[in-house]
Parts: sequence; C-alpha cells; structure tokens
Amino acid sequence: MPELPEVETIANGVHQRVHGQRIAGVWTSGKPQTFKSRETEIAEALTGATIDSVRRVGKTIVMTVRRGTSKKAGNPVEFLVHLGMTGRLLVSPPEIPLPPHTHALLTLADGREIRFVDPRRFGRLSIHAPTHNSQLTTFYTGPGREPLTISLEDFIALFHGRKTPIKAALLNQSLLHGVGNIYADESLFRAGIRPRRQAGRLTREELARLRKALIDVLRRAIKLGGSSVSDYVDAEGMRGYFQIEHKVYGRGGEPCTDCGTPIKKITVAGRGTHFCSHCQE
Ligand SMILES: [Zn+2]
Repeated sequence: MPELPEVETIANGVHQRVHGQRIAGVWTSGKPQTFKSRETEIAEALTGATIDSVRRVGKTIVMTVRRGTSKKAGNPVEFLVHLGMTGRLLVSPPEIPLPPHTHALLTLADGREIRFVDPRRFGRLSIHAPTHNSQLTTFYTGPGREPLTISLEDFIALFHGRKTPIKAALLNQSLLHGVGNIYADESLFRAGIRPRRQAGRLTREELARLRKALIDVLRRAIKLGGSSVSDYVDAEGMRGYFQIEHKVYGRGGEPCTDCGTPIKKITVAGRGTHFCSHCQE
C-alpha cells in the first residue's frame, strides 16, 4: 500500500506533468465501489476544466481544477484520488494500451491521458467542492492533521488523555493522517518509545522526540523518492517502493542495528508491530 512519501512523490510527479493542462474528456468504468461521488458528477466537474495543481493531503492525491479563462476563472473544484491498496495514477501518451482495471481516464487537451488503474478496487475517487466566502477559499484538508507540518504544541495536544497505545494513536487517521504501519514503527524506534505505551502518558519530551523522528523518517523517504519520480508515474506505473533503511519494520527476530537484541514482533491495533526491547522504553 502506498504510504505518505510515495503518495507525495506521485502527486508531485503528476503535478509536474499536467498542471496548466485542460481536461478535454472524462471516461469512468462504472464499477460502483471505486466512486465515492457519482460518476456523472465527476465527469461534469472535470470536463473542460484546467488543472491548477496536484498535491498530497494525508495519503490522498488532490487535483485542483478550475473552469473559465485565466481572466475570469470560476470557483475551484477538487478531485480526490485515494490509491487504496493497489491504485495507480499514471500519465500516459494515448498510444500506450490501456492497462486492465482502468477505472477512470482523463483525456488532456494535448492528447495525453491521466489514468486511474486499480486491480483490487480499494481506491476511491471523489469530488470535493471547496467552500468560499469573499476573502477565502477553504480547500480539502483531510480528516486529521498533517504530520509534516503540525506544530509541537498541536502534536502534544493530539495525544492528551488518550488511553490507546501510541502505535494505535499514530495510525488513527482522524488524529494524524497519512501515517502508515512502516513509518509508525520506524519513528517509534528512532524516538526510543515502545509501541504499546499509553499515548496519553507519554511525556512532553517523549512526544517531542516522536514528532521529530516521524518528520525525519517521512522527509528522508520523500527525498529518496524524489530522484525516482519518473519511475512512479510512467506508462508502466509504479515499479516498487523506495524505502528508508528499515531499522525494525519487517525485521522480527533479526538483531537490532543499534544494540544487537533480536527485534520483537507483536500485534498492536491489529497490525504487525516491530520494536527493540532494549532501545525502546
Ligand atoms: Zn536495540
């Protein structure tokens, strides 16, 4: 499943390729579970609109489009793409055959196509209409807070009084959005905090370490991915994930890279969870 750094890389790659382009036509597959908005609504919102930007919010790719000319631009509309387990967002020339399991196709004015391909159909497509008043447009911000930009005070406040394990709280998308299993385990290791510790009982100092560790691992993974953008959005789609060096994730039973103690694997919040019983308290 694509995690936040992969989604950021994909969103940036798609942005570089398509911003400023007009969407000439929209086709959708009619497979109901893919579409959170009605397909007619998606087609109406996107057909004839110009792509302003493509960005990441949590693990969602947000394409902002606008109708009208640059002098008299209409209100923006956002097209939300959640990749789910197997979803891919590709920018392809039309001569590349359409992959199986293509569920949406946006034809650009220059002939290229933005294709949403998703064999297992856990991905979701929807339209979000930002709210407007005379001064301000409120764009999609997702269900939780953004881990890369949240302030220390806000980060600490998120976990106040929470009785769940910190690992579960990190995965709770209504608190922080975009943090998945790998980055939760890796950031807890780097912060020296055991995954089962009660979130509300962590000290300020521990939460400060955790926030820093989380931002560090996410930024590092984004940086690693930045050099391979073309591999992620080319005609064949994703070729695999770039990864930070895993210190604990997926290393159950192997020696800790810092102290040699075998890494433990347990289950927290229903997810495989890895930690070092010596380095994490
Ligand atoms: Zn260790």
